[in-house]
Amino acid sequence: MRIGYGWDSHEFKTGVPLMIGGVRLPHDKGLAGHSDGDVLLHAITDALLGAVAAGDIGSFFPPSDPKWKGADSAIFLKEALKQVKEKGYRIENVDSTLILDAPKIGPHAKTIQARVAELLGIAPDAVGIKAKTPEGMGTDNAAIAHVAVLLVKA
Ligand code: MG
Repeated sequence: MRIGYGWDSHEFKTGVPLMIGGVRLPHDKGLAGHSDGDVLLHAITDALLGAVAAGDIGSFFPPSDPKWKGADSAIFLKEALKQVKEKGYRIENVDSTLILDAPKIGPHAKTIQARVAELLGIAPDAVGIKAKTPEGMGTDNAAIAHVAVLLVKA
């Protein structure tokens, strides 16, 4: 088996939709980024790539490439899944922690869990979605995601 860990952060900005875990959440700001800024999908992508020692999201999708401007981050996740499959592994489970001041994730956690599970092709009960507020960190204008994944031989 293999373990993987991923981390990402994006700053909030007005005028863009808020995408977290492939779900559009109602909020007055979205996450700034070269792609759609989906902090959770980026952290999952890095965790999967890390678990099979295949590099990181930037090595597959350089932010300098205009092709990925506003891109659906599900594309990045699909490439990471391909890498996992090619190395002969499948996902046992994924666990994540989101750190953001607003919006509250609790009411949307089940929707995000279902969407992430669908994108990964695993059962919702293999996807942990947790959220915390950034107490004392001074990062109220950013969203942060930490992700751990466990892979087993397919
Ligand atoms: Mg990112």
